[in-house]
Amino acid sequence: MDEEILEKYRKAGRIARDVRELGIKMIRPGVRLLDVAEEIEKKIYELGGEPAFPVNISINKVAAHFSPRYEDDHLEFKEGDVVKIDVGVHVDGYIADTASTIEVETDKYSDLIESSKEALEKVIDVARHGIEVRILGKVISETIESKGFRPISNLSGHSLNRYILHAGVSIPNILTTDKIKLKEGMVVAIEPFASTGSGYVKSRGWSNIYRYVHSPVFRDLRLRFLAKRIKEKFRTLPFADRWFTRNFPNMRENLNKLISLGCVYHYPRLVDDGIVSQHEHTVIITKDGCEVIT
Ligand code: MN
Ligand code: MN
Repeated sequence: MDEEILEKYRKAGRIARDVRELGIKMIRPGVRLLDVAEEIEKKIYELGGEPAFPVNISINKVAAHFSPRYEDDHLEFKEGDVVKIDVGVHVDGYIADTASTIEVETDKYSDLIESSKEALEKVIDVARHGIEVRILGKVISETIESKGFRPISNLSGHSLNRYILHAGVSIPNILTTDKIKLKEGMVVAIEPFASTGSGYVKSRGWSNIYRYVHSPVFRDLRLRFLAKRIKEKFRTLPFADRWFTRNFPNMRENLNKLISLGCVYHYPRLVDDGIVSQHEHTVIITKDGCEVIT
């Protein structure tokens, strides 16, 4: 990998790590989800990066894909919540993606949380050029199952590319038949999810996270303008409507029209039937190992 690109990945990784820890430290009963999301996103800019996607704050059975809107200012963390903070940072399009889990002031789920953390550590120990991704899935599922939990089988890690969050290679959380191998120079996000339930997420409702797909084909100028702005600002990276609402008063209505036209994709919230924990790091694959950048 080009030294200049490597430095951009490392910078994105440092910022992502710092704001992930900042978010985790902020979480207490009575603190608003919106304040944590906004504080993290503000800090990303201060440190010289940009959000690669809206801060995901997923609680208890929600495994992934939830970011609060301004109207969600009544949502607060409660004692006993199992909270996943998942942040993405990019520097000139080079993305670092990382997540951690915290239980708010109780320790009922510390074994669960430990299981996804340990699975991630073990995968990092074996990830290197030439290893089959399914072996990583095997390490993840065996680690999580040995603690009495289930890995989430229909969520996976992913390779990253410039401005592309899911660049084609998946890192499964279970043993699969996939023969794909990791290669030197690949950037991958590895993200074991552990569940007390069935380990299978379903799409359930709104996440408030969106992604540009294509421009409207007909001549509604307002819609075309909004689509153009979204494309210029975020390319194909996910975005939150709260990044817009203050400048575009009718944004929600127009955004919904773009969604119904298939011009914008809305990510569904992903929910399991048990409590879920997640840990994620972004790594760069080397000849005989990997460099953790987050
Ligand atoms: Mn993530
Ligand atoms: Mn990820």
